[in-house]
Amino acid sequence: MPENQYHPDYVSNPGETIKETMQALGLSPRDLATRMDSPIDEVRLLIAGRWRIREKTARRLERALGVPASFWRERSRQYNQHQRRQYMKVLRQVRRAKAHGRPATLTTGQWRYAIRCFAGRCAYCEDAPYQVLDHYVPVAAGGGTTANNCVPACRACDARKGDLPPGEFVALFPPENIERIQAYFARVRAS
Ligand SMILES: [Zn+2]
Repeated sequence: MPENQYHPDYVSNPGETIKETMQALGLSPRDLATRMDSPIDEVRLLIAGRWRIREKTARRLERALGVPASFWRERSRQYNQHQRRQYMKVLRQVRRAKAHGRPATLTTGQWRYAIRCFAGRCAYCEDAPYQVLDHYVPVAAGGGTTANNCVPACRACDARKGDLPPGEFVALFPPENIERIQAYFARVRAS
């Protein structure tokens, strides 16, 4: 693998690409099932991103959508790698919080939801793609690795925040972004 290959920190589910391709071709899930010669339930799972694309499916997608099997294989590989990376990232932060005696309940599913809510971008600047798991209240300042304290951030914003408590860092970022983060925390707290 070339060293300079782009490794996106946010990779959407292959099901979304399938959905988009179906829309471009004006296909319903039933049309796709017919073209793929696959059961409709399997196709629904595929579109929902809950069916792993293996060789046979990649070839059927090529036949049904005209997009090469190699594309679907690569798309699936990237997505699975992305999922593993998110899992490891959460695990590392949960361990770190535990080591500091902080709450540590964040699950990979909750973290993926956070990334989706901020559209794969940094919650603080909105400009840069997401790179790191950021603790809103830093672990050093008593924050835990929990759904209502973790947001995706870019490295620059993460460095800018450092270990400052919220009272000191909020002024560094656009107020509407801070409000959006707080609205997100209120939402996950309520669920
Ligand atoms: Zn940022």
